[in-house]
Formats: sequence, C-alpha cells, structure tokens
Amino acid sequence: MKTHRSDPFLLTPGPLTTSATVKAAMQRDWGSWDDEFNAMTAEMCRRLLGHANATGSHVCVPIQGSGTFAVEAALGSLIDPALTTLVLVNGAYGKRLVSLLERMRRPYEVLDTGDAAPPSPATVTERLQADPSIGYVALIHCETSSGILNPLEAIAEEVAAQERELIVDSMSAFGGLPVDAQRTPFLALISSANKCFEGVPGFGFVIVRRDALEAAEGRCHSLSLDLHDQWRYLQRTGQWRYTPPTHVVAAFLQALDEHDAEGGVKARLARYTRNRECLVTGMRRRGFITLLEDRWLSPIITTFLSPAHSAFDFARFYAELKASGFIIYPGKLTEMESFRIGSIGHLDVAVMERLLNAVDEALAAMGVDDCRPAA
Ligand SMILES: *Cc1c(COP(=O)(O)O)cnc(C)c1O
Repeated sequence: MKTHRSDPFLLTPGPLTTSATVKAAMQRDWGSWDDEFNAMTAEMCRRLLGHANATGSHVCVPIQGSGTFAVEAALGSLIDPALTTLVLVNGAYGKRLVSLLERMRRPYEVLDTGDAAPPSPATVTERLQADPSIGYVALIHCETSSGILNPLEAIAEEVAAQERELIVDSMSAFGGLPVDAQRTPFLALISSANKCFEGVPGFGFVIVRRDALEAAEGRCHSLSLDLHDQWRYLQRTGQWRYTPPTHVVAAFLQALDEHDAEGGVKARLARYTRNRECLVTGMRRRGFITLLEDRWLSPIITTFLSPAHSAFDFARFYAELKASGFIIYPGKLTEMESFRIGSIGHLDVAVMERLLNAVDEALAAMGVDDCRPAA
C-alpha cells in the first residue's frame, strides 16, 4: 500500500493514514446548498445505516467537528435529564463521557474497572437492578486509550434485558468491527469520519433510534450540537444546518467505496487483525510486553509498556521512528509508562514489518538492549 508522496505512516488512533485516492477526492469544491452535495450527504447516511444493519429502525445524523462533538451532541440531545446514566469507564475516553455529563449537569454514576479490564455484564445488571433511577448505560466499544475491546454484545443484551437504553461510543471500532443494530440493541452509536472507515477528519455521526430522536426535540443544551435540529433540517432541506465539511464528505464517500471494494467490515477486520498480530508478535520477540492479556487485545491499537532500561527515552524513540517514517502515539495510562501503536488505517503487514525494522534501529541508536518494563 502506498501513501501520498513520502508522508509518514500514522500508527495512531486517528487521524490515520488514508489512501491517495481518498485524499484526491478532496480536489473539488462543492456548494453546500447544491443538489449534488445534498445527494452525497444522503448517500453517506444511507450507507452508514446499512453498515450497522440499522436501516428503518435508526437514522444517521452527521455532525460537524471531531468525534467528541458527535458524542456531546448525542448525550446532550438524547438523554432525559431526569434519568441517571451509568458510565462504564476503563480508560480516558470513558472518563471523557463523564466530563461531558458533568459539564451538561446530567446525573451519572461510574463503574470503573481500571485500565486493563472490561466491565462485567453481570456487574452492570446488578447496578441496574439496584438503582431504578438509571435510564442509560454508556459504553466505549474499543477503549482507544489502552486498546481494550469491550464486550459490546454481552453488555447490550443485559441493558436490554433490564429495559434501559445503551449509548455506544464506537468511534474507533465502527467500520472495522461488526455492528448489527437488530441483534445488538442500542439507542445510539457514535463514530467519526477519520477512524476505521479511513476518511479524513472533519465530522462525526450518530446512528440513533428514530423514535428516540423524534422525542428529543428541544432537549439539547447546545444550539450547534442539537442532533434533533440537525436531523429535522436535513430532512426538510437535504442540507446540514450550518456549513458542512464538504471536502471531507467527498473524501468519505470515496473511503466508503474503498471499504466496499476491500470486502467490507469483514475484510477490514481481517487486515487490521493481521497488522496487529504482526506488530504484537514482532514487539514481543524484541522483549516488549503488552498492557493487556491477549483476550482483551483489539485489532485497533495496542499499548506497550515502556522498557525500564535507563537509556530508553520515549521522546527519543518517537523522534527516531518519525525519522524512519512512522508516527506512533504516547501512552495514556495513569499508572505506568507506556506507548501505543495503532494497526488501523491504510496500512498492511508489509508496513508493520518495516516499522519493526525501524524499532530495531531506534533501540540500537539509543543503546537499549533490554525491552522489559519495570517489574
Ligand atoms: C477518537 C475517539 C474519540 C473522539 O476523539 P476526537 O479527538 O474528538 O476525534 C472518542 N472516543 C473514542 C473511543 C475514540 O477513539
């Protein structure tokens, strides 16, 4: 896989490496009021609903901004302020949900399982049975700060059995991991353009149950993030309420075509899994340790513990890898020194092997000959 010019590969959780053809799709200017652009928006929403098997039951509403804007729009528009939200936290993105609810002054409770363990469905059930004021459960599908893949299907089943509503931040998973709204009940699922569909950054979107969105009129604390208003305006005019990221939408449609051509979610998941396996096997062979046990590793991003060796310096490691054409990501753990390497984006195993060679060179340049973390 070749990228544009000699851009570095982004081994990050987004924005990520995109194909030259996705970037090239941005070479035209579109009028935001124009029929052609409106048709592009409609096609995009239709196809995203198809990817979640949510046609009919749900609608797809795009919203300008980064992924967090879409999460804020969903929480602010869909949550009844009289009900409590149980937030399942095991990393920074779960904590961000808490910050958003705090800002909006919506009641919440937290079930925090630390950086390296998923929430247990049985515990969620206990909490829901013990507290009738809880109306919603909010879950991060893949917690990108550690790479942990949370058990969406099992949690969704429990939440539905307890007759509560589930809100899923599937930002870093949708498009790369299967989602089926008919088998995995959810009120809303949130993702963005620049993750597993491999588009460029500029908007997020919410796949939301139609009946719930219809009931959300006038609830949002924010004008620009009001999902109900955005949806009604789109329905009425075919247009986004305020200036849309036109080039980003054009690039996203190209990215959707490339997703289909590759073989859809199944093929993409297989490629990301091969990338992850090559990365993790290669890093372990060099003595690195992953934060997570194998059963919680996601095909999206992997956290490695930093070597305890006195010559290891993350800033230097980063710079060496960047000079070789690879951008990695700092860790986001509270307790341990770590760094992250993503396996998503327009990359394959050949890229991962080149990265592993670059890791060898970086370690040699620093004089690190032992990659084990502190005991
Ligand atoms: C990327 C991501 C987000 C959104 O982050 P932005 O920086 O606002 O795009 C939210 N949740 C998860 C799990 C993510 O991976």
